Amino acid sequence: MNVLVINCGSSSLKYQLIDSVSENVLAKGLCERITIDGSRLTHTPAGRDKVVIEKPMPDHTAAVKLVLEELTDPENGVIQSLEEIGAVGHRIVHGGEKFAASTVITDEVVQAIEECNDLAPLHNPANLIGINACKECMPGVPMVAVFDTAFHQTMPKKAYLYGLPYEYYEKYKVRRYGFHGTSHSYVSKRAAQILNLDIKNSKMIVCHLGNGASVCAVLNGESVDTSMGLTPLEGLIMGTRSGDIDPAIMEFISKKEQLSLEEMMTVLNKKSGVAGLSKVSSDFRDLDAAAAQGNELAADALQVYAYRVAKYIGSYVAAMNGVDVICFTAGVGENNSAVRKMVCEYLGYLGIAIDDEKNALRGEEVTISTEDSRVRVMVIPTNEELAIARETVALVP
Ligand code: AMP
Repeated sequence: MNVLVINCGSSSLKYQLIDSVSENVLAKGLCERITIDGSRLTHTPAGRDKVVIEKPMPDHTAAVKLVLEELTDPENGVIQSLEEIGAVGHRIVHGGEKFAASTVITDEVVQAIEECNDLAPLHNPANLIGINACKECMPGVPMVAVFDTAFHQTMPKKAYLYGLPYEYYEKYKVRRYGFHGTSHSYVSKRAAQILNLDIKNSKMIVCHLGNGASVCAVLNGESVDTSMGLTPLEGLIMGTRSGDIDPAIMEFISKKEQLSLEEMMTVLNKKSGVAGLSKVSSDFRDLDAAAAQGNELAADALQVYAYRVAKYIGSYVAAMNGVDVICFTAGVGENNSAVRKMVCEYLGYLGIAIDDEKNALRGEEVTISTEDSRVRVMVIPTNEELAIARETVALVP
């Protein structure tokens, strides 16, 4: 069966058409500037050059229509007709406490996702728009919702409650939810597979280090703690997000700089992280280049970043009373050997040793720890789209 995987944002829509049997990507692409002047679709059929189509997309339905046209286009297409799409898998950011697993999308499910909108006001409404647009363009094709938060619903109360008045949890469900669940789940399962390890009897820590970044403690195959919280702002220092800070800083800075709460949130989400610290960039390639040229702020930003990752790993070793495997994934985790090395240098007390030659490899599944390292350290490229396609197929008859 071919599965269309959709990741819909407020003005963008990413897609992949995946053959669920071979697990090959038949085509992928991105619609940008939906609802804005200058919309365009970049469509890449597997093994062929990408095509860029500049065409107005006044709404997401127009974007989905254009994607379907390209997928079936005689020249750029990869299928003959829409009947060759057996199901659609949607990435949904927030499933609150309602969704501990992926689910077939029904009217009730749409309503339940809507009820989580408050928890992810920038993401969930856009995800719902994507669902509605696909429903309109492909009536009758089964659709599945795959939630970023679902994998973390196994966290125990001690990990998900904040030290806040309990009534905020009772009234508003303020708690840790965590994100990147699809990635943490995929990577931990893949690590167990590669190592021939019984996942039901394992202690893993997955470091998803991308533009957004989070660490997850995976005990016996289940998430027991993770660094992102009610929103993706908590935890690690990220590309542009601050991660953990003393909450009192918000009042302090907002008074000094005369910033509203909304402006303060923009600072924490968009102007902080390694971009804010370095004054250079949120992209680690730029940071590495700047640091190599002697830019001290860039070098410091990398140090602060790696130190935070190492502290989280340490805390999850404590949470699980040990660790068998540590995995690095996502843009930085997969590509930046220097960051991995810096992080692992803090972990000598766990008996971790890194093989520099293996650590220098790129873009492949590899164990980067030495033979005698007491904990296995791996790089496993994440594949959230494939994970969504698998979840979708599992639920569609
Ligand atoms: P992601 O959000 O997983 O796509 O990760 C994006 C981040 O990964 C970028 O901002 C870069 O900092 C980093 N990244 C991607 N490719 C490379 C690379 N080849 N070398 C170093 N960092 C990379």
